[in-house]
Amino acid sequence: MPLLRPVYLGIDCGATTSKVGGIDATGDILSKTLRQRPTLGDAGPEAIIKGWLSGADDFLRDEGLTWDDVAGVGLAIPGPYRDYGVLGSQPNLSKALDGWHFLDDLHRGVKQAARRDIPVVTANDGQLAGIGEARAIQAHAPGSILMLAPGSGLGCSYVHADGSILMGDNQAAAILCHMPAPYAKLGLPAFHCGCGRDWGCFEAYTSISGLPQMLAHFLPQFPAHPLNSADLSAKDKVLSLRALAQQEDPLALAIFDLQAKAMGYAVAAGCMAYDPTHIVIGGGLIDPGATTPAFRQRYMSGIEKATAEVAWVEIKKLSFHEASLGELSQAIGAALYAASH
Ligand SMILES: [Zn+2]
Repeated sequence: MPLLRPVYLGIDCGATTSKVGGIDATGDILSKTLRQRPTLGDAGPEAIIKGWLSGADDFLRDEGLTWDDVAGVGLAIPGPYRDYGVLGSQPNLSKALDGWHFLDDLHRGVKQAARRDIPVVTANDGQLAGIGEARAIQAHAPGSILMLAPGSGLGCSYVHADGSILMGDNQAAAILCHMPAPYAKLGLPAFHCGCGRDWGCFEAYTSISGLPQMLAHFLPQFPAHPLNSADLSAKDKVLSLRALAQQEDPLALAIFDLQAKAMGYAVAAGCMAYDPTHIVIGGGLIDPGATTPAFRQRYMSGIEKATAEVAWVEIKKLSFHEASLGELSQAIGAALYAASH
């Protein structure tokens, strides 16, 4: 029997938290409320699936829906994969999950929750983030889209002018994050990356994952800075940087200025590979809930300036955008991907 008001759910499995979003059959977003809960990556597959499904239950209840309304589910999850739906060894989730048949497990869980079979699809979280943003931009302005979203890692996505996503033959296209950055040009050494490469991946210079190395590099240049003596864990020190930058702390600004420059070089490299019109920057640094307009303006213009420095095409051919869906872009992208199948 056809569903009365079919909806598509998107689950975004992040390194630290998982989020759920949804769209209706026309592609409109059901809610922009960010609902997130810990991913529990170290607790094993069963706990992770349980967390995703209770997140989905909460979403449906809050929206006045039930599993009877759900026509499809999309899952955004970091790669690489051994195979479609099978996790490989990757940098941002527990290494113990290597080889996990997550799609089969989620499919089974959804079937139990809904008491019927519902199609479940999956793709790289970074790639899926681009679909949701592309839909909003391409409605007004034609052209393909390169999206870079620094969070725990650096999500990357390329979306064709027709709104379809470049997945690649192994769902591994547009992984600019693990290509080498011109680190000598940034005045930095080759940072180590969580992926295991030591050639200075862009991710290490642009995302939270590289902040400990960035802080270790810059802190000695600011001997009077309170972080030198603060009784905080290394993790809490780096997590304090974003808030410090909003108060124009010089150390934090120096770090994010350099991240912006590295982002600009990543954009320029991406433009050489894909020749897009639109550049979308996502991630927590452009989240209006977390950063000031002055900070975002500084970060975005730093990116544009560095892009212009090395871009192949004229910078005026590129149109820069701040992502509009914030931390929901992957979940909404996953829902749109489910709807397109
Ligand atoms: Zn890497």
